[in-house]
Amino acid sequence: MDVVEVVVIGAGQAGLSAAHHLKRLGVSPFVVLDANERPGGAWQHRWDSLTMSDVHGIAELPGMAVPEHTPADRANVIVPRYFAEYERHFDLPVVRPVRVTSVAPVDDDPDGLLRVETTRGTWLTRSVVNATGTWETPFMPYYPGMGRFRGRHLHTVDYRGPDELAGKRVVVVGGGASAVQLLGELTPVAHTIWVTRREPVWRTVEFTPDVGRRAVALVEERVAQGLPPRSVVSVTGLVLRPQEQRAAELGAYERRPMFARIEPDGVRWSSGSFEPVDVIIWATGFRPTVGHLGALHLRSEHGGIRLLAPFDQHTFTTSTADPRIHFVGYGPSASTIGANRAGRTAARAVQRQLTGGREAVA
Ligand code: FAD
Repeated sequence: MDVVEVVVIGAGQAGLSAAHHLKRLGVSPFVVLDANERPGGAWQHRWDSLTMSDVHGIAELPGMAVPEHTPADRANVIVPRYFAEYERHFDLPVVRPVRVTSVAPVDDDPDGLLRVETTRGTWLTRSVVNATGTWETPFMPYYPGMGRFRGRHLHTVDYRGPDELAGKRVVVVGGGASAVQLLGELTPVAHTIWVTRREPVWRTVEFTPDVGRRAVALVEERVAQGLPPRSVVSVTGLVLRPQEQRAAELGAYERRPMFARIEPDGVRWSSGSFEPVDVIIWATGFRPTVGHLGALHLRSEHGGIRLLAPFDQHTFTTSTADPRIHFVGYGPSASTIGANRAGRTAARAVQRQLTGGREAVA
């Protein structure tokens, strides 16, 4: 059975950043286990019509620029190509496809080893950097009648582009950036209705680094208390970009409140009004992918995983319940820029843990 100093779980932006810094700090041996068949993290699964001009901006991984591209290039091609090149260039020890199924303490082990069970064997390790993102844990709320709907339920993860929905009657559920983007491309070709539980929050101030920092601070506050994290976008507010203007002119963003129930051929509001519908798109977000960590009992009484910031009071990466477990891309670091920063902090925290508290040297 392999014994390593660190197992990094996941090779998206977060896992690659952590791996880069672990290598730079000389932590060895370590391994990155990734469930995907190919490099690219969740980006390889994003829909074909998501171009590099649609994404909010991909922060560079440490030490290598994002390759040349045009605004029209597909994000699900450019980013995976970038990650593949990154893994090769820095010779990162990524093993795939390997899905981690559980992480648990080795009973009565004086060294405090952890047992990492996977679809391709078992690793023993002294620490874990969890970088599993959210894409594999789509969240869909329950509404009465869901099971009897004769049309299609689609979550954001199932969306492939506007073409297959042309001419259909589509309800888009959700008040986040994905809903706004999907309405932007669907409304010119389909009949769309936007429903949200709460009034959408539109950004009224310019997005400056300071606004971004304050938004991240709000999410940090939540993970410091052990509350379930919210997305950073949920606190920065929504914005319409040039590519959504056409849909806006067509009335896409005249939002309606949430319907009360789903009927076989459409949705009905509590007022009694009814809309016939072919497709319901649930742009209702994601939850952190942490099911494989259940045996560690990391959840706080508030339902989230409480993290502390090991160095700078700002980058929250380390579980308060078990300091051998570090999180990158969770809560406030669930953006490409946040993942970069958290990868560095987690690597330093791991090194400090492994050297019995001595400060990182590189
Ligand atoms: P992922 O890219 O999801 O990588 C996680 C990896 O872990 C995957 O390869 C997965 O297979 C693997 N994994 C999961 N579970 C296991 C397991 N049990 N065992 C082994 N491996 C496992 N952020 C931005 O900064 N800019 C943007 O423009 C932007 N656009 C977005 C658009 C959409 C539609 C969405 C949903 C999110 C967007 N984000 C954006 C947020 C973005 O997802 C994150 O910033 C970042 O890319 C996530 O990186 P990650 O490494 O945390 O997760």
